[in-house]
Amino acid sequence: MIKMITESDLKVLIPEDELQHRIKLLGEELNKFYNGEELYVISVLKGSVMFTVDLVKHLKMPLNMNFIRLSSYGSGFTSTGKVNAVDISLPDLNDKNVLIVEDIIDTGLTAKFLIDFMHLNFKTKTLKFCSLLDKKETRKTEIQPDYHCFEIGNQFVVGYGLDYDGFYRNLPYIGYVEV
Ligand code: 5GP
Repeated sequence: MIKMITESDLKVLIPEDELQHRIKLLGEELNKFYNGEELYVISVLKGSVMFTVDLVKHLKMPLNMNFIRLSSYGSGFTSTGKVNAVDISLPDLNDKNVLIVEDIIDTGLTAKFLIDFMHLNFKTKTLKFCSLLDKKETRKTEIQPDYHCFEIGNQFVVGYGLDYDGFYRNLPYIGYVEV
């Protein structure tokens, strides 16, 4: 049974201006790293949509935007621990600079699935993983993102792309619910 929450149950963890400021800095860092080279962005639906859209606006290189859909979370607060590919149609990424953009790394299972998938299917020129949020405490794999914007504790967060049972993705800030 999913406990219903309302926006008044949410506390602000990262306000909109902090998110936007940090994302701009990440954009500048990525511009320096890729130095005008073509970049293929792989955004993981649905959670990283807001982050991806705001991040790419700061990127100056020729950029090819792609979306893939995986499933790992059921309803509510806990991970199912299994990652499934739901829609993973991608262009030929051999010899390309590839940046995977995720909303949050929790156990790291999704990130591991994606990185393994890339290595199995392509010989990319570079492969980097960037995540808006990093929950280090709950990691069950060795994976560390190459770039992250904020490290957070073991909290269930919503907003700015992240959902609770499909809702709250539209909030412009990251909020949390106390469970
Ligand atoms: P992982 O495979 O690293 O355990 O989890 C990755 C996915 O789980 C994320 O892309 C996200 O969809 C979901 N997830 C993990 N932690 C949270 C959280 O605190 N809030 C929400 N809404 N989703 C989360």
